[in-house]
Amino acid sequence: MNDLSNSLAAADIAHSVHPYTNMRLHEKQGPMIMARGDGVRVYDDHGKEYIEGLAGLWSVAVGFSEPRLRDAAVRQMDLLPYYHSFAHKAHEPAIRLGEKLAEMAPEGMNRVFFTNSGSEANDTVIKMLWFMNNGLGRPEKKKFLARNKGYHGITIASGSLTGLPANHKDFDLPAIPVTHLTCPHFWRWGEEGETESEFTARLLKEAEDVILAEGPETIAGFIGEPVMGAGGVMTPPEGYWPGIEALCHKYDIILISDEVINGFGRLGTTFGCEKYGFTPDILVTSKQLTSSYMPLAAIIMNDKVYNAIADNSEKLGTFGHGFTGSGHPVACAVGLENLAIIEERDLIGNAARLEEQFQGGLRKFADHPLVGEVRGVGLIAGLELVADKASKRSFTPAGKVSAQAAKFAAQEGLICRNVYETLALCPPLIVTEDDIDQIIERMGRALDLTW
Ligand code: PLP
Repeated sequence: MNDLSNSLAAADIAHSVHPYTNMRLHEKQGPMIMARGDGVRVYDDHGKEYIEGLAGLWSVAVGFSEPRLRDAAVRQMDLLPYYHSFAHKAHEPAIRLGEKLAEMAPEGMNRVFFTNSGSEANDTVIKMLWFMNNGLGRPEKKKFLARNKGYHGITIASGSLTGLPANHKDFDLPAIPVTHLTCPHFWRWGEEGETESEFTARLLKEAEDVILAEGPETIAGFIGEPVMGAGGVMTPPEGYWPGIEALCHKYDIILISDEVINGFGRLGTTFGCEKYGFTPDILVTSKQLTSSYMPLAAIIMNDKVYNAIADNSEKLGTFGHGFTGSGHPVACAVGLENLAIIEERDLIGNAARLEEQFQGGLRKFADHPLVGEVRGVGLIAGLELVADKASKRSFTPAGKVSAQAAKFAAQEGLICRNVYETLALCPPLIVTEDDIDQIIERMGRALDLTW
């Protein structure tokens, strides 16, 4: 370790409070400090090279050294480094990005509200639906449906929608009215002898039973990720999303597709809803929107939602909601350039073209004694580790073996993320065939070392 890294690590231990970290363990083991990035690779402060198999946090679509994003940020910094959109003010980057997102989104989704993060976006969606339903004279229509293992953020309201134990335990969540439905993951939650379509039918019946028991007039929205990410990369069973869409239409429930991870090509389609054949009322996007070079999230909504909110803002005199950074000009300028790169380089097509190599290569690990299931679509995948393949029994304590495997992967030069029992992969959309071969090779070595 050189002096700089020693002092950096010591300063980190002395002063930083890390998200998603066992802080006492961190004080003993210290940080892994990343010094620079280049394409799909990052380098730590000792110069060790890693393939960033999770694109940072599922986000760096165009890779870690894209000069066009830097230039877009600098240009905007020079021109107008900050402005806002409160009370009729506007600026070109937010206007142009809103226009671009409406063009990319499914037919009829024409309006965009910006926040700084996915959590703020989902908080905003909750408030929008409450504001909308109060305006429509149905103040009892306030509850949400979400799913176990879903991830929608960590603020008090978005964290309530999240269905993961670590985000609830000792945080006193959920704090808003939300029912978490069965996780739509057939391999884990399908019953003995049940087919995939029977599983889908059971989950749809469960959703309808909950809607009827609570009263459709009390349910404002249903939120879900087309492919669940942070809960462990779970792909939905056949027919699930069109079935959910039909229920939402039947009971006048707003359907929210949380595409913070899925959006902008991750599944080989522009949005996840396109992949699974449904049209939401609200699309929540972030991460790959700017490749996370700048914090930004966008809520794209249809006219039904927009008009109800607009009408109530007229009645009350304002829509009393917004962040200082909503539609930050530098973030929006970077987002516009990032989407231009995704289009020009056909990175969505790249994800579709490489799907077979990536998913097929990883599926070979299904034979590994540690691996219960390999799943995924496009350029997102999860390997769920089990103590016993036949019974699908997980290791105890939960997550310990997957954490160990992720450490071995890093040792072998691959960063992946251990989420509960699953090793998640979600490489930058610019990956090449050669990068994928290396990801698979390094993952294989990590699994063998763990075993
Ligand atoms: N929604 C989904 C699907 C996510 O994956 C995430 C973050 O990973 C969020 C919301 C929250 O986003 P943020 O971390 O920007 O608050």
